[in-house]
Amino acid sequence: MAYVICEPCIGTKDASCVEACPVDCIHATDADEQYYIDPDTCIDCGACEPVCPVTAIYAESDVPGEYESYIQKNADYFKK
Ligand code: SF4
Ligand code: SF4
Repeated sequence: MAYVICEPCIGTKDASCVEACPVDCIHATDADEQYYIDPDTCIDCGACEPVCPVTAIYAESDVPGEYESYIQKNADYFKK
């Protein structure tokens, strides 16, 4: 399991979650449209979820149906 960053991050991308993460597994470059969580490094602590101002972060098991593709989108980002 892992936490997943979904569509609301696009256009906000304020990096609040990055500072909250104890294992530094949330990444993006300036050119990326959103931040992504590395599912292999995330320890499921949940610290990032409440600090997001736009409710973009969900536990994988709680990702709303319309954002389901973001589970793969986050994982794929780290396979580049
Ligand atoms: S759940 Fe914890 S480890 Fe995973 S991305 Fe959020 S802050 Fe980082
Ligand atoms: S806190 Fe939310 S909006 Fe800000 S970078 Fe993280 S996921 Fe994106």
